[in-house]
Amino acid sequence: MPRYDFRCRECADTFEVSRPMSESGAPATCPAGHADTVKLLTTVAVGGLSGGGRAPARAGAGGGGGCCGGGCCG
Ligand SMILES: [Zn+2]
Repeated sequence: MPRYDFRCRECADTFEVSRPMSESGAPATCPAGHADTVKLLTTVAVGGLSGGGRAPARAGAGGGGGCCGGGCCG
């Protein structure tokens, strides 16, 4: 299960929350019970990053002369 870093604006502390990716955007409560928290951007080493955002442009860097990395091949 991925872990997410949050920061509490009440106590200015950071804490970690383990939760399913489906709940990654849900608000978290800090260990002291404050609800005024913000989610920090972290590198989640679970291997699921390429599904949601921009994929690394390694395909366009010169694979075999194809253009499928740029989306022009359908
Ligand atoms: Zn707090």
